[in-house]
Amino acid sequence: MKVVAIVLAAGVGKRMHSDVAKQFLPLQSRPLICYSLDVFNNSPHVDEIILVTGADAVEYCQKEIVEKYGYRKVSRIAVGGKERYHSVWKGLQMSFDSTEEKADYVLIHDGARPFVSEEIIERNLEALKTERACVTGMPSKDTVKIATEEGFVSGTPNRSLVWLIQTPQSFEFDIAYEAYRKLIESEEEILSQGIQVTDDAMVVEHFSKNRVKLVEGSYENIKITTPEDLPIAECFLERMKK
Ligand code: C5P
Repeated sequence: MKVVAIVLAAGVGKRMHSDVAKQFLPLQSRPLICYSLDVFNNSPHVDEIILVTGADAVEYCQKEIVEKYGYRKVSRIAVGGKERYHSVWKGLQMSFDSTEEKADYVLIHDGARPFVSEEIIERNLEALKTERACVTGMPSKDTVKIATEEGFVSGTPNRSLVWLIQTPQSFEFDIAYEAYRKLIESEEEILSQGIQVTDDAMVVEHFSKNRVKLVEGSYENIKITTPEDLPIAECFLERMKK
């Protein structure tokens, strides 16, 4: 059984208001992307990592990340695309076109989530023993409102059924590949319907008949998105040292 992780680091991170893309910002003297790469590289369950980054960061990733920190499982660095889903598709294609043994399972992870853990990876793989698709998340602590375009409340989902979604999102490789192939094929139509593709599970939900199992992540598995997330990440790291 071959497990491939696709780690996404091709975003420009506009909401961070920084010249350096958020996944490369220093966190306790190492680039943020290193923390999730550590976990996937050290996991006994992960065979190969495909790192997806911007065209201008390939050399930096190769020399300053992969070689410098010795991530031996990073077999390839793919150039991502404009939207997150383009970057995922590039990673899936790179794995599919590989001459090596085909992947059975793929774990897709936001490189901007440094606090993924071995336990979360294991819970994803455990779910894949019985299901073909699963997504990491946590029950929402807050009440969630659905808004109208005009900024009014249009509904309140039952909080006990609301989960906030994280990564990794994990699939049988063929299911993810096929769903993404169909998405790219019908991209214009999807966009014209005003659908925003913000995670992998929604691609599988939309383009395959497979149900998607929710798997428990952790409240620490945050995505570093805006400047105020950085001190929170520093604080989590300090606590982990103790
Ligand atoms: O932009 P967002 O916060 O949703 O990004 C989530 C992850 O996807 C980040 O790790 C980011 O680097 C990655 N991403 C990407 N290619 C894009 C946009 C985002 O790899 N075009």
